[in-house]
Amino acid sequence: MNTENVIIIGAGCAGYTAAIYTSRANFSPLLITGGQIGGQLTTTTEVENFPGFPEGIMGPDLMYMMQQQAEKFGTRMAYESVVEVTKDKETHLFTVKTSGGSYKAKSVIVATGATARYLGILGEEGLVGRGLTACATCDGAFYRNVPVCVVGGGDSACEEAAFLTKFASKVYLIHRRDTLRASKIMVERTLANEKIEPIWDSTIVAYHTDDNGDVEGVMLQNTITGERTPLPVKCVFMAIGHTPNSSFLGDLVDRDDAGYIRRIPGLQATKTVGLFAAGDVTDPNYRQAISSAGMGCAAAIEAERYLLEIGE
Ligand code: NAP
Repeated sequence: MNTENVIIIGAGCAGYTAAIYTSRANFSPLLITGGQIGGQLTTTTEVENFPGFPEGIMGPDLMYMMQQQAEKFGTRMAYESVVEVTKDKETHLFTVKTSGGSYKAKSVIVATGATARYLGILGEEGLVGRGLTACATCDGAFYRNVPVCVVGGGDSACEEAAFLTKFASKVYLIHRRDTLRASKIMVERTLANEKIEPIWDSTIVAYHTDDNGDVEGVMLQNTITGERTPLPVKCVFMAIGHTPNSSFLGDLVDRDDAGYIRRIPGLQATKTVGLFAAGDVTDPNYRQAISSAGMGCAAAIEAERYLLEIGE
């Protein structure tokens, strides 16, 4: 088995940027994509705040361009998912086990991002794709001229609600409090949109399905009074945040309470020498495309320095 200089895990902004830097520095990285090639930006529409695109750019287009740029400098892609990473105490080499095989590497950059959260209601998993989804961009167009709802009060919820007004007859925004967490500009746009109706202090406690097993409504519960009210909607778009994808690393990293990888302060390095983390998997604060890309760059430079130090 060849020993790779650097394996990058994850094909989002952080992973592709790390790949651009390490390949341009001639380290011939192997990038293992995972299931969501292009990462979270492939589930968004227009990105207006990535520098260099004054007219905005579609998320999937931006990610495709990043992949092309990484491949142009010699990044090799493996379309597999990583299930485990371990490090040999004697050789100091990493073993990266995937769905399709196993790789050895001198260094690893983890850029696996974060996965959408659901409410945890009994039977919820079986409804995903049957009127329950966490991706408005992917599924919004299926729900034309029918009422839908978005759950959450952050920027994602507001963005998804606005996007869905293009298709749905009505978009209810269900939030567990009476104040949105989203940025001021998003709050203003959301509350000014006539097709969006906020439902404050409320959570979903049950899903109602039709004879085919597709969602046809939800039962809401007021978080203050406890009162329950049915709401007929054809689709529920979940936007209540994400869980960082770090469990496959076992004890190689320390994590905070929410599962985000802890790094050595001021660096992308983790507690395991040669293992670096970048992007949403290690970032509870900013979680932006550009901040992820910045961390990917920093992780790549740290990995390059490590490889030079160990005599690569
Ligand atoms: P978020 O900011 O963490 O917001 C999650 C929302 O879901 C909160 O309103 C939260 O309620 C609610 N929530 C969490 N758990 C819940 C539960 N179990 N039941 C009901 N509601 C629940 O997540 P996000 O909106 O995905 O945004 C993540 C980050 O990405 C943020 O930093 C955001 O600014 C950024 N972002 C930026 C853009 C942009 O700039 N264009 C777009 C999307 C996201 P509480 O408010 O009560 O906690």
